[in-house]
Amino acid sequence: MKSLILIGPPGAGKGTQSKVLCEKYGIVQIATGDILRANVKENTALGIEAKGYMDKGQLVPDKLVVDMVVGRLGQDDCKQGFILDGFPRNVGQAEALEGVLNDCNRKIDAAIGIVVESKDLVDRLTGRRVCRGCGASFHVSYNPPKAEGVCDLCSGELYQRDDDTSSTIESRLEVYERETRPVIDFYIEKGLYSPVEGVGTMETITKEIVKAIG
Ligand code: AMP
Repeated sequence: MKSLILIGPPGAGKGTQSKVLCEKYGIVQIATGDILRANVKENTALGIEAKGYMDKGQLVPDKLVVDMVVGRLGQDDCKQGFILDGFPRNVGQAEALEGVLNDCNRKIDAAIGIVVESKDLVDRLTGRRVCRGCGASFHVSYNPPKAEGVCDLCSGELYQRDDDTSSTIESRLEVYERETRPVIDFYIEKGLYSPVEGVGTMETITKEIVKAIG
């Protein structure tokens, strides 16, 4: 059983790596961005409230996101372990997570940072295309699908996320520096943090992450 956190700026590859690691360890991915986008699509009360923040590249308020994650962690499939992808995004969320896990005698085993320079992120994000069906991620230049607009894995339709546009990307990167970078110090102090270089092939990066998890 492993309880892991992947930390990294938008476009670092957290989603892609989470999917591979979930397969490897038999654990579930909890991607807060994906859960929020599903809520927006279904027009739930949470989705309606979250959309305005997401469109501007800002963080959705902690109360909403923390309740959402606590609800998800309480589900049976998380008992064997999980990877948090995109959460915690600030120190308040990290503290809330610690409190919830302490209450049920659980703990985080490792917080892995995927390190990518900012100049590479804009390029990765503007060219990113995501599958509506399975969530797989492609890039128009660096990892193009075999047929344009079609997912190699499930033949689903590829689309560009609303927030993968230049103006929103800038704000998401700023929010990362200001709010999320301090989360790294939070886990360094707890002796749980390991950085991994997020540049190279997907397989090499996975190997490095697995080594860091130990
Ligand atoms: P992501 O898919 O992780 O890039 O997240 C997309 C957007 O969802 C972010 O820009 C935020 O608006 C929102 N979001 C995702 N995770 C969180 C979180 N842990 N706290 C607050 N907002 C979040």
